[in-house]
Amino acid sequence: MHFHLPTAETFIPDGLPLEAALARTTHLAVSAHQDDLEIMAAGAILECFQRPDRWFTGIVVTDGRGSPRDGPYQDYSDEAMRSVRFKEQWKAAFVGEYAAQVILDYPSAVVKDGQRREPVADLADLMKAAQPGWVLTHNLADKHDTHVAVALRVIAALRGLPEAERPEKLFGCEVWRDLDWMIEADKATFDLTAHENLQSALLGVHDSQISGGKRYDLATMGRRRANATYFESHGVDTAKGLAYAMDLTPLIRDATLDIAAFVQAHIDRFAQDVRGRLARLG
Ligand SMILES: [Zn+2]
Repeated sequence: MHFHLPTAETFIPDGLPLEAALARTTHLAVSAHQDDLEIMAAGAILECFQRPDRWFTGIVVTDGRGSPRDGPYQDYSDEAMRSVRFKEQWKAAFVGEYAAQVILDYPSAVVKDGQRREPVADLADLMKAAQPGWVLTHNLADKHDTHVAVALRVIAALRGLPEAERPEKLFGCEVWRDLDWMIEADKATFDLTAHENLQSALLGVHDSQISGGKRYDLATMGRRRANATYFESHGVDTAKGLAYAMDLTPLIRDATLDIAAFVQAHIDRFAQDVRGRLARLG
């Protein structure tokens, strides 16, 4: 396995060689930053936890150098911050028993530049090595530029693979914007009732971000609970936690499908739902 940046790093919690660790992957998630995986891909992580036949691999694309810092980390240099965030991601991989964890170490500016092909090439190589059935990444209506850029690079990488090697499913997940606004028929749901303790632990290891004054751990667990309770207005809660995703699979089945038009169609169905209800009740 050869990455474009020699500073890219990998961590295999059970010590298998990288190729073998990647080859067992069934579920793979690609995020912009350290901690995004644990916020957005808990459904896939839990599906694989303590299952000898299912393995989760995490890929983080950026380097963590520009991370906000406060508390015990406030005087850390960019280099020290990068090192802390890598270590936190390794901790998450250990707690979640991931098949493999990769950090590609790109500066955000490189990922956001659509002309730079290196991230796409690295992602394509990882997909070929891992051949996951499911791929999860950021949703295309997220409000963080680096998140959306990563989702676009993932789609480009998967579209570049021969059709038979593309995953069965591609999901766009919640971080910087939830997906509660989508109509019910558009919502892919991940039941996060089980292992609340593990979910909290996975979020909690990212101390440098939480100590910075942002309670991503509480906010993420709260969002999952809110999603579950507000999913259906009738009847009691069947799940104690839910995460939503936009099913992006059509974008990799048909590589010519316009990405912006695909997302716009989701927004249009939401707009129709709101307008329809107002018209009906007026
Ligand atoms: Zn992020």
